Amino acid sequence: MSEMKKGKLFVISGPSGAGKSTVIGELMKLRDDLAFSCSVTTRAPRPGEVDGEDYFFIDWERYNAMIDAGELLEHAVFAGNGYGTPRAPVLRLMEQGKQVLLDIEVQGAAQVKKAMSESVSVFLSPPSMEELERRLRNRGTETEEKILQRLETAKYELTLVDRYDYHLINDDPVRCARELNAIINI
Ligand code: 5GP
Repeated sequence: MSEMKKGKLFVISGPSGAGKSTVIGELMKLRDDLAFSCSVTTRAPRPGEVDGEDYFFIDWERYNAMIDAGELLEHAVFAGNGYGTPRAPVLRLMEQGKQVLLDIEVQGAAQVKKAMSESVSVFLSPPSMEELERRLRNRGTETEEKILQRLETAKYELTLVDRYDYHLINDDPVRCARELNAIINI
């Protein structure tokens, strides 16, 4: 009897504004065995964001209850908001043979590596700090205070590149998606 091959877990980190969502969007066009895990967050939805698609938007009470119940594979506070990956859907999707992708920040990525050492981690950098700042400002979704906070966090995050299995520089999202695709195929 043939058994379905279990999927792998891929963790993508990189500064806010590095273009992770764009690269992941391009990658989705290249494969049909990819599943994107939907995180929970206490952050308010941005215009156009859909509950259950972009994130599950929850309050701090529910967030803390999920942590206490062990329902999150990893969790971290980023720029004053709580984020976390629900554990059950990730494990289920892997069982179903899907390649599961997590777009999470550095503290959460370290927790995943510790819990699941066979997972593959990829760090996505912007081409430069100047370009990162330009992208964050062009996005127009954050206050000045939040932009400065995200830039400070980015400087710290960029010091952690060496902890990742792979490092990609996003000067072209389509090329980056192809490189990520090659990593998944390894
Ligand atoms: P944003 O608020 O811009 O959507 O995301 C901010 C940061 O939180 C990004 O670096 C993103 O990768 C990270 N993030 C999104 N979901 C999760 C999650 O479930 N866990 C962790 N640790 N980080 C997350």
